[in-house]
Amino acid sequence: MQSVITRNEDETMALGSRLGCLLKPGDFIALVGDLGAGKTRFVQGVAASLEVDPSEPVTSPTYAILHIHNGNCPLYHFDLYRLGGDEDAAELGFAEYFYGDGVSFVEWADRLAGEMPAERLTITFAHLGEEKRRIDFTAAGERYEELIVNLFL
Ligand code: ADP
Ligand code: MG
Repeated sequence: MQSVITRNEDETMALGSRLGCLLKPGDFIALVGDLGAGKTRFVQGVAASLEVDPSEPVTSPTYAILHIHNGNCPLYHFDLYRLGGDEDAAELGFAEYFYGDGVSFVEWADRLAGEMPAERLTITFAHLGEEKRRIDFTAAGERYEELIVNLFL
């Protein structure tokens, strides 16, 4: 695991941009952390490096579960906050995105239960203070171990 402390939202977005440059289609990133911890800010940084059209900004998909942004490759931005515990994630057809031609970022990924890809990068955001956050990167699988190494070169 690798950890970073950011002192403001710009640092979190910059970290997202650095990761964005290393991604390739089919990558799966689970984002974990409380409301306001910085998950969406991080994805905004990713979107910038994927050259997503700034006129379609990345926001928390409050009512939609998924927002699709077209950059250098598709960016699938999920927010499962509203996914009920008894709703079956398997029925929502996520697999076609997760194993598809874009990169997937899933806020509240723990709600995926059994639909969570076994190989993934998990990024956990924790509040340390008003603007201070700890961001932990944990890899499952060789692809993501390599990704972390390259992110922290
Ligand atoms: P989440 O998607 O985790 O609910 P957001 O990214 O939407 O959270 O919001 C994070 C909030 O915290 C924003 O209002 C942002 O301005 C603020 N913030 C303060 N410090 C940081 C930081 N270091 N990193 C990210 N966001 C921060
Ligand atoms: Mg969010």
